[in-house]
Amino acid sequence: MLPFDTIEEAATFMGRNLTVAETMWFKYSAKKSDYYLYCHNILFLFLIFSVVPLPLVFVEMMRSLGFDKYKIQPKVSLSLPEMFKCYKDVMRMFVLVVGPLQLVSYPSIKIIGIRTGLPLPSLWEIVAQLTVYFMIEDYTNYWIHRFLHGKWGYEKIHRVHHEYTAPIGFAAPYAHWLEVLILGIPSFLGPAIVPGHMITFWLWIALRQIEAIETHSGYDFPWTPTRFIPFYGGADYHDYHHYVGGQSQSNFASVFTYCDYIYGTDKGYRYHKKVLRKLKEGSKVDGAQNGGSYYYPTQDLKSE
Ligand SMILES: [Zn+2]
Ligand SMILES: [Zn+2]
Repeated sequence: MLPFDTIEEAATFMGRNLTVAETMWFKYSAKKSDYYLYCHNILFLFLIFSVVPLPLVFVEMMRSLGFDKYKIQPKVSLSLPEMFKCYKDVMRMFVLVVGPLQLVSYPSIKIIGIRTGLPLPSLWEIVAQLTVYFMIEDYTNYWIHRFLHGKWGYEKIHRVHHEYTAPIGFAAPYAHWLEVLILGIPSFLGPAIVPGHMITFWLWIALRQIEAIETHSGYDFPWTPTRFIPFYGGADYHDYHHYVGGQSQSNFASVFTYCDYIYGTDKGYRYHKKVLRKLKEGSKVDGAQNGGSYYYPTQDLKSE
């Protein structure tokens, strides 16, 4: 809720006219409580979990239209009911865990100082803060994820997320309820260390989930804009982690590749890519065309 009754009052307070974005924010948020604004995340998460994976469902159903060559594990295909079951499981988790967590976590947002007022942050400030959030999340998530691959963590908690050895978009948030809660910590740490505006916070929560859906898509599209982000892992990178499964000691990072590189946990993946490259070169020499740039031809190639 803004401490001004009119746009003129807000302009007097700031010593300048409001920008177009600030005027829109004033009209939208002036009479809404901060708690209500914070709870927008519930709607955003519901929409992201429900809508963003839909094009991937279409792609999976229409693989014969030329999408097949981008499928990372082409031997695996999921039917519509199987994908819908995954969505239903995620929605159950959403209603029982994610939604309630949002409802009760509001005091923490107030304590760390997420603001809803004017002026709005500049685009530069938003981008800088989001970059910091992604880096903090990536680093913290790396270690928690690595811990979850220990015997206890995997059997008791993380095994659920790995039920999909060939992930799909809907399976990005598919996990044990405790994992959903635990991995909320890395997402919260960035805004806690560098608190920003509520709009930045919304964007952070939304972009992190969209990124997770992309890395679980099961498809490595050459046109994805995330390819231009330095050290970005992407779908192929995380798909390998699921492909190897519970024994995986490779590719723990959620967003970037540098943690796995620094701590030496990308060796299995690098080796695997090398083997695939050689196989592909060999098949080209033989005159055989597999058509795809990334594929896992047999289960025997597991390299852990
Ligand atoms: Zn894992
Ligand atoms: Zn995953």
